[in-house]
Amino acid sequence: MVKYPHNLIIPALPGAPVSPVNPMSDYKVHFRCFRGCPGEYSIYQVIYTCPTCGGLLEVAHDVEALRQRSADEWKALLDSRIGATQWPYGSGVWGKKEWVIPTIDNDNIVSMYEGNSNLFWAERLGKQIDLPDLWVKLCGNSHTGSFKDLGMTVLVSVVKQMMQDGTSVRAVACASTGDTSAALAAYAAAAGIPAVIFLPQGKVSPAQLIQPIANGAHVLALDTDFDGCMEIVKEVTQDDSLYLANSMNSLRVEGQKTVAVEIVQQFDWEVPDWIVIPVGNLGNISALYKGLKLMQELGLIDKLPRLVAAQVEKANPFYLSYRNGFAEKATIQASKTLASAIQIGNPVSYEKAVQAVQETNGLVEQVTEDELANAAAIADNTGMYTCPHTGAALAALFNLRQRGVIQRDERVVVVSTAHGLKFTPFKVGYHEGTLDEVESRFANPPVYLPADAGVVKDTISRKLAL
Ligand SMILES: *Cc1c(COP(=O)(O)O)cnc(C)c1O
Repeated sequence: MVKYPHNLIIPALPGAPVSPVNPMSDYKVHFRCFRGCPGEYSIYQVIYTCPTCGGLLEVAHDVEALRQRSADEWKALLDSRIGATQWPYGSGVWGKKEWVIPTIDNDNIVSMYEGNSNLFWAERLGKQIDLPDLWVKLCGNSHTGSFKDLGMTVLVSVVKQMMQDGTSVRAVACASTGDTSAALAAYAAAAGIPAVIFLPQGKVSPAQLIQPIANGAHVLALDTDFDGCMEIVKEVTQDDSLYLANSMNSLRVEGQKTVAVEIVQQFDWEVPDWIVIPVGNLGNISALYKGLKLMQELGLIDKLPRLVAAQVEKANPFYLSYRNGFAEKATIQASKTLASAIQIGNPVSYEKAVQAVQETNGLVEQVTEDELANAAAIADNTGMYTCPHTGAALAALFNLRQRGVIQRDERVVVVSTAHGLKFTPFKVGYHEGTLDEVESRFANPPVYLPADAGVVKDTISRKLAL
């Protein structure tokens, strides 16, 4: 892999200083308070919340400097990097480096060439719900099998640069409903950085549990739920040697926002009408909005899609807040749900997500266990292999389509957040008909037969109605 690209470096702007080592460092980036308190903080500083109000931070870019390049020039540059072999621009995240972390040294980037996932035209599924322009963004087709890779490449890269610069950070840590820890463990292992993982005991899938174990992370399974793990990790990361990798750390959001750019780019820079996304801690929908907003500010797009946040009834604090007109943040004790990665009762990125829904004229839907499981099965029958969270988003879409909120001629993208292969017990339980509160209407169990050609032939003709 060529570490220092030559043909992909942006030519210097007229009058701009040229640095031969890192030509992008002219673009500035820093943390600031999301609520607008004064103050700027280095992204290489150990800081997660605003020192003034205690609220979330966000990564702020120098939009004026970025605007020096025209929308068409940005489009051409980003398009030129798809499939690039020059490190690290072939990554769907780092192909947009100037919009993500322009100041990081390419040698410190820890990337598995994440992103650039397939935007699947769900032709057969769309026909079934009379929605011909239906697309599924397959974020689970990624190194550790979920969209969490998009944020983790950014966070671990910044940590690597911090450690190189001699800060006090010695390891990374996170609480997780499964996919965050898998991503953190893999990227930390690739960088040679120790990782400490806090998981709620018995509440993640076997595949999700074994991923960080296999990657050599220190896995601590706590006798609590995700929100309980989150409390503990916040406390232990008060010590600056352990760096917090949850999405309250806004570096994660910076990487995840690239999915918005990819979706628009994959439609040749056209904006879809709707994007439906399953939500838990509310980092990903915030990221989606941040990516869209930046493209709008830079003139690449002139409208925003309407965002739909899909929740499950068992873990629906954002839905409750929405029904309440976002008058106040609802916090609940989340119940056990098949969509285990979104079993969260006290979502960290609440304020950012409220903005995402309000500014896009979006909405929040909730679905039952039965709806999400059957929606996943319907999608699988058309060739997908959907995780339960994607099932929740699809079920929300089916309901909105049925109520006529989403119309036949509209273009809709569903964000599929993880790969179905991470949730084998969900699939097996569905097809065996053993899931709680689910009537498996599309169960397709195997047929057990003797090794007898006659019986086999009869069975096939019956099955295929020959
Ligand atoms: C993390 C996760 C989500 C929810 O994302 P948030 O940023 O927590 O809202 C949805 N689906 C899957 C598969 C996830 O891993």
